[in-house]
Amino acid sequence: MVEKIERQKPKEQDKFERRHNFEAVEENFTPEQAHLEASRCLNCKNARCKGACPVSIDIPSFIKEVKEGNLDKAGDVIRQSSMLPSVCGRVCPQEKQCEGSCILGLKGQSIAIGALERYVGDNTSAKTKTIVPNGKKVAIVGSGCAGMSAAADLRNAGFEVSVFEALHEFGGVLRYGIPPFRLPRFVLDREIEALKNMGVKFYKNVVVGKSITIQQLKDEGYSAIFICSGAGLPKMMNIKGENLNGVYSANEFLTRVNLMHADSADTPTPLKIGKIAAIIGGGNVAMDAARTAVRVGYEKVYVFYRRTERELPARLEEIRHAKEEGIDFQFLRAPVEIEGEDGFVKSMKFEIMELGEPDASGRQRPVGTGKFVDIELDSVIVSLGTGPNPIIQRSTEQENLELNTDDKGYIVINEKGETSLQSVYAGGDVAPLGPSTAINAMGAGKRAAKTIIEALS
Ligand code: FAD
Ligand code: SF4
Repeated sequence: MVEKIERQKPKEQDKFERRHNFEAVEENFTPEQAHLEASRCLNCKNARCKGACPVSIDIPSFIKEVKEGNLDKAGDVIRQSSMLPSVCGRVCPQEKQCEGSCILGLKGQSIAIGALERYVGDNTSAKTKTIVPNGKKVAIVGSGCAGMSAAADLRNAGFEVSVFEALHEFGGVLRYGIPPFRLPRFVLDREIEALKNMGVKFYKNVVVGKSITIQQLKDEGYSAIFICSGAGLPKMMNIKGENLNGVYSANEFLTRVNLMHADSADTPTPLKIGKIAAIIGGGNVAMDAARTAVRVGYEKVYVFYRRTERELPARLEEIRHAKEEGIDFQFLRAPVEIEGEDGFVKSMKFEIMELGEPDASGRQRPVGTGKFVDIELDSVIVSLGTGPNPIIQRSTEQENLELNTDDKGYIVINEKGETSLQSVYAGGDVAPLGPSTAINAMGAGKRAAKTIIEALS
């Protein structure tokens, strides 16, 4: 009986209509769908899904509660491990994590764990706890996943928590990077509001390292400082023509649309939208940039990637959505030069590649063939990864504080989130201990909070 129920699919917005709006592509499960999907779960004793979740959510238990109609209990089970189920249910790479390990996936279709988590997250809230102030202050630098999860745990433990954010809105990449058609903003607003209601203080437009330094935070009486400032510094191609008008990093492009509404006519900082855009790169950020470019009005959007479709690092679902939205994938193409006219992008030259021997990562290395193609373009959006911004590290150097970073500028931490500086902790994308994902950043926030609580108790 159990295996006869098909995996439930949330309803998706029409692929032609959604090219013109930023509304969520996927709806939530209906209660009937959630119940049917939860009934498929075998409630395995040695649940592989739980082991494959980076924060070890008790997946079988929460699914059992959904099946029995106890949504609040399901929410409580998830929130013991993750404070952002509505976020993680939408953006986690479930096919590589929990769903990728579900026993049902071996012969058929795994349980839609992400969609169930999102359903529970959206339909329940965290329980308010009585906070007993302990008289100590903690500063959090950055309001992304890592900062939000640390703030919740520290506040619940009685600390006075202040979050300092460089931008004028809170949420980090979830706000300025991931577009609303993947992560509707009500989800994020709700989480920030809940933290404010708990008494967490948020300060915007504060660049730690410039507006205030780590030493000054210490002098102001913060007993611990958690640096979770992300990795927002884009890597560029370093090729001729990269300084032409019409070349953006994906981070700049997404920030200008998501945060500064640069696609709207009323903004003081408009984007010059042309007809044809090229996205360089094949990760999730590239997919977000491509799908955003379609929505702001480019008539043709390419994704250029130097390997083949098989090696594309983006989530399969994002690739499918991008293709449905008309994005043209060009594989085995490596950027050579951007050609301009009157200071603006006009076209771009690519070398045609083929796959050679595997490199250190085990993937086949792209090798140039000596043949080239030129493509007419108006905009080039570079999505080749990011690194940490050096502002905080430089300012600590000026204060003669030794904050150790590695050769790429990431803050060095131990498994407890401690840095080389006394009372200073770090985590998330600025000090990654694994892949840079929302759930790992959230886990890092929880880990650092635990260390701080133990150190200051
Ligand atoms: P961030 O979210 O980057 O937050 C850091 C915050 O610190 C920012 O708000 C920043 O403005 C602030 N800050 C920086 N410097 C300072 C300073 N000096 N003073 C004060 N504040 C400062 N992961 C997934 O799991 N699934 C996805 O689908 C996915 N898609 C992504 C799409 C995009 C476009 C991007 C860019 C990333 C994506 N990721 C995805 C990665 C994931 O979002 C990140 O790994 C995660 O959000 C990192 O969280 P964080 O808290 O470490 O940093
Ligand atoms: Fe349910 Fe799959 Fe997890 Fe087993 S592995 S408990 S079937 S979700």
